[in-house]
Amino acid sequence: MKKLMIDLDETICTGGYLQAVNDYLKTNYKEEEIDSYYVEDVMNEEEKERFLDYFYEHVNIYKTIDLVPDSLKVIEALSKHYDIYIATAFVDKRRVKESGVMAMQKYHWIIENMPYIDPKKIFLTGSKNLVMCDVKIDDKVSNLKGFGELKLLLDQPHNQKYTAQELEQRKIKRVYNWNQIYSLLMPESEGNS
Ligand SMILES: [Mg+2]
Repeated sequence: MKKLMIDLDETICTGGYLQAVNDYLKTNYKEEEIDSYYVEDVMNEEEKERFLDYFYEHVNIYKTIDLVPDSLKVIEALSKHYDIYIATAFVDKRRVKESGVMAMQKYHWIIENMPYIDPKKIFLTGSKNLVMCDVKIDDKVSNLKGFGELKLLLDQPHNQKYTAQELEQRKIKRVYNWNQIYSLLMPESEGNS
């Protein structure tokens, strides 16, 4: 079985950080209006500091997070053909101690929503380049460095800045949704047409 690494935030689930920022600022920013990886970049530095204090004390985005359409359905189908690892970063350099709570929130969300994933195959790490998987799926280009014969970048507003040529140089293929990932990764004998 080939090994498949899948990222969590903005790959499997989405919108949690944006909702936290909107709730805090009482705004209604939409995903497509924000081209930074960090949603809170809409705030000035002082405001951002206050937001981070509030965020790590009061917010668990995984209680209300949305799914990227079809993600769980496709991953469950793929789990019959691939050895699946979920890799997700949790350390926020701006709040090193406080961000430990994210590891627990992410772990709980994964074991509750993806019972077909072996909990021992959950990587809570920012060093995804060290993960030796054959196939990798992530929404962040820098997480697709290192090992991997097939690297898929899930299209998101913050990664639009990478041109097709730049991705090709990095041997990365842009994909637009989970149905496309299913078509690329499922063996043909499984009724994949
Ligand atoms: Mg991500």
